[in-house]
Amino acid sequence: MEILEHTFTSLCGVLKRRYGRGSGDAQAILRQVHRAGNTRFRDAPQFRRYADVALRFEKELSLTLPEEVDRRCEGETTKLLFRLGDGNQIESVLVPMARYTTICVSSQVGCRMGCAFCQTAKMGFVRQLTTGEMVAQIFWAKHVARVPIRNVVFMGMGEPLDNFANLAKTLAVITDQRGLDIAPRHITVSTVGLASGIRQLAALGLPLLNLAVSLNAPNDTLRNHLMPVNRHTPLAHLQALLKSYPLHHRNAHLISYVLIPGVNDLRRHADELAHFVAPLRAKVNLIPFNPSPQTPYRAPETEELERFRERLVTKGVFVRRRTPKGQAILAACGQLGARIPLKPPQAPP
Ligand code: SF4
Repeated sequence: MEILEHTFTSLCGVLKRRYGRGSGDAQAILRQVHRAGNTRFRDAPQFRRYADVALRFEKELSLTLPEEVDRRCEGETTKLLFRLGDGNQIESVLVPMARYTTICVSSQVGCRMGCAFCQTAKMGFVRQLTTGEMVAQIFWAKHVARVPIRNVVFMGMGEPLDNFANLAKTLAVITDQRGLDIAPRHITVSTVGLASGIRQLAALGLPLLNLAVSLNAPNDTLRNHLMPVNRHTPLAHLQALLKSYPLHHRNAHLISYVLIPGVNDLRRHADELAHFVAPLRAKVNLIPFNPSPQTPYRAPETEELERFRERLVTKGVFVRRRTPKGQAILAACGQLGARIPLKPPQAPP
């Protein structure tokens, strides 16, 4: 049984059914795995008088981690290439901040969203990551690389809301105070705007969780071209979904806008973007496009970026210009997967 797959509730159920043991054991197991970083359950005070039970758990509960295949660093940003149990490969990125580190987690092998500027899209959809495989990326960073993880962003390979059931379980595992205890306000789920997924996420009742929407185009014509999801959920629909999303009063939607020169950086694009965010409580994250070998677009000059930012500010938009950490190692938005050999995509389940 894979321990990283389990929430407290599901583990309680399994321990009761299989071993006739109670919730105290589940709590001790999660604490040992996620806090101590190992499965030496005999070390837990809960099992001091039950060494035989602890040893049985050690034998029967497994903790599977991905194999590190490659690691690239730019400054302090690290991009990790992992091989999963079935041979598929994924990437995670560690981005250090002043006192803690953010991990960018992948949610799928490949992606079926087909965004025109994205490296991962070129892989097509291969398969969903399990909860255990998503949690393992965080576990690995914390206990193998020994990095002080505080923030988790689901912005790696794949569209997390396209893998909703496993994402929801992953959120339950990583926010559990008996285990990893990552506060929802330190977690960001990034989406291209999958309507059903946004509704399901809203229903989880985590108002402090951050929702980032990768917008990248401010009108339907351009967005239909850059991000095919827009043909199903056009901008007016997406805006209505965000307006009705149960946001905490201290929170704001994050609207990511990757600036691609000659594509979405005109003055009228800034005006349209300002119009889109006007009725929302939202911050715009302006991200310079990071060119990769197979994309036809180039990176914006500082002046192009600044011109676009100033126009948004003039229109009353709250804008943050994001430093493109990880640019040289292709660890920035839409660039994961460049080192993974392309296989023919499989049909979605
Ligand atoms: S940008 Fe994100 S959602 Fe779009 S194809 Fe790439 S990984 Fe998928």
